[in-house]
Amino acid sequence: MEKLSYASESGTSAWNTYLQQIDRVAPYLGELSRWIDTLRHPKRALIVDIPLQMDDGTIRHFEGFRVQHNLSRGPGKGGIRYHPDVDLNEVMALSAWMTIKCAAVNLPYGGAKGGIRVDPFSLSEGELERLTRRYTSEIGLIIGPQRDIPAPDVGTNGKVMAWMMDTYSMNHGTTITGVVTGKPIHLGGSLGREKATGRGVFVTGREVAGRAGIGIEGAKIAVQGFGNVGSEAARLFAEAGARVIAIQDHTATLFNADGIDLTALSAWQNSHKQIAGFPGAQNIDSEAFWTVEMDIFIPAALEGQITRQRAEKLSCKLVLEGANGPTYPDADDILKARGITVVPDVICNAGGVTVSYFEWVQDMASFFWSEEEINARMDKIMTDAMVHVWDKAAEKECTLRTAAYIVACERILMARKDRGIYPG
Ligand code: NAD
Repeated sequence: MEKLSYASESGTSAWNTYLQQIDRVAPYLGELSRWIDTLRHPKRALIVDIPLQMDDGTIRHFEGFRVQHNLSRGPGKGGIRYHPDVDLNEVMALSAWMTIKCAAVNLPYGGAKGGIRVDPFSLSEGELERLTRRYTSEIGLIIGPQRDIPAPDVGTNGKVMAWMMDTYSMNHGTTITGVVTGKPIHLGGSLGREKATGRGVFVTGREVAGRAGIGIEGAKIAVQGFGNVGSEAARLFAEAGARVIAIQDHTATLFNADGIDLTALSAWQNSHKQIAGFPGAQNIDSEAFWTVEMDIFIPAALEGQITRQRAEKLSCKLVLEGANGPTYPDADDILKARGITVVPDVICNAGGVTVSYFEWVQDMASFFWSEEEINARMDKIMTDAMVHVWDKAAEKECTLRTAAYIVACERILMARKDRGIYPG
C-alpha cells in the first residue's frame, strides 16, 4: 500500500492542514484570538547538512531538520523521524501538532519535531549511528533538557535515542540523560513508555465510548497499522471484551468476523516481520477494509489516510486517531455530518508524550517509578484531559477536535499573552 501524499490527495500540505485546523478554532477564542498568529509561524526552524562517510568509503550528504514550533509553555518536545519523505513542511506540521497536543493534555512543554530525509533500512548499523551522532551534534545548538527534548518517532527507536543522549553528553562533558526520552530502561528510560501510546488510545476511547453510549464489550474493531500503537490498542480493547475483526498493515488486510487472535498474530509478525500470510484470518482487498462493518475504527499507521471518499464508506460510530494527522479536514466534515465521533490525534495518542514527560521528570530527580504507578498516573492525566475536552465540546457545540484545539490554544495563548512580547 502506498503512502498517500497530502499534496496529491487534497491539494494541500500537512502544514496547510494544520493551518486550516487553526482557522477553525480562531472564532472560539474571544480576545485571545489577537495572539493567534503566533501559532501560524514556527518559532525557530533549523536545517542541517549531515555529511556521512558510507561503509564503502564514499561520502553522502543528508538533510536534517529540527523545528521548535512554540515554546510559550516550556521546553520543546517532539520526536525524530527518519523517513525518505521527511521535509520541512512535514516537520513544521508535526511540530505544531506537538504544541497543541502538549497543551491539550496540560504538559509543561511547547511543541517541536525533527527528522532526517533518509531510508534508515538502507543504512548499516554503523552508518545509522554516525548519521545520528552528526545530526545530534548539529541540532545540539538548540536542544537540551531545559530547551527541547527529542524522542523516537517513525524510523527511530530506543537505540537511536541512546546514541543521541551519548553524543549530547560527550559534547557537554557530563552524562545528561534528560536530553531525550524513549531511551532504553537501563539508560534512564521509563517503564511503560513503549506501550504508552496504545494504552492512551484505549483510555481515551474507553471514556468517549462510555459517554457516547457505545459498548466496548462485543464491539467490532478495525485497526490500521499493527505496530507499536495499533497492536497495543487492539490488545487492550480485546482484553476489555471487544472483537478485533480487521487489521491492515503495509503488507496485507486481514479479516475474521469471529475476531482475530492477537497473540497468534503478534507471534506471526515477530517471526515473519509482517502480518501477510497469517493463517488465522482471510486476506481481503485493501480498499475493502474501509467498508468492513465495524463499531470502532483505529487508524494507527500514517497521516492522510481518511480521505473524503473513505469517510463516506466508514460504517463505524467512533474513530480513535492513534496516528498523527490521519484525517483530512474535508473528511472530518463528512464524518461529523454522518454522526461519527472522532477522538482527535492531539488527545487520543498523547499517552506517549505523557509517559515521556514522566521519563524526563524521573531523569531530573534520578528517582524511578514502578510501572503500576506510571500507568495509574497516565490513566488519570488522559482521562481528565479527555473529560475536559468532552465537556468543552458540549459547551461550544463543536467536534472533539475543535474542542481539543480550543482547550490547547487557550492555554498557549494565555501563556503568550502573560509573558508579553520582548522587547516590548
Ligand atoms: P510503527 O512503525 O511501529 O507501526 C506502523 C504500522 O503502520 C505498521 O504496522 C505498518 O505496517 C503500518 N503501515 C505503514 N504504512 C501503511 C500503509 N500504507 N497502510 C497500512 N498500514 C501501514 O509506528 P507507530 O509507532 O505504531 O506509529 C504509528 C502512528 O502513530 C504514526 O502516525 C505515529 O506518528 C503515531 N504516534 C506514535 C507514537 C508512539 O509513541 N509510537 C506516539 C504518538 C503518535
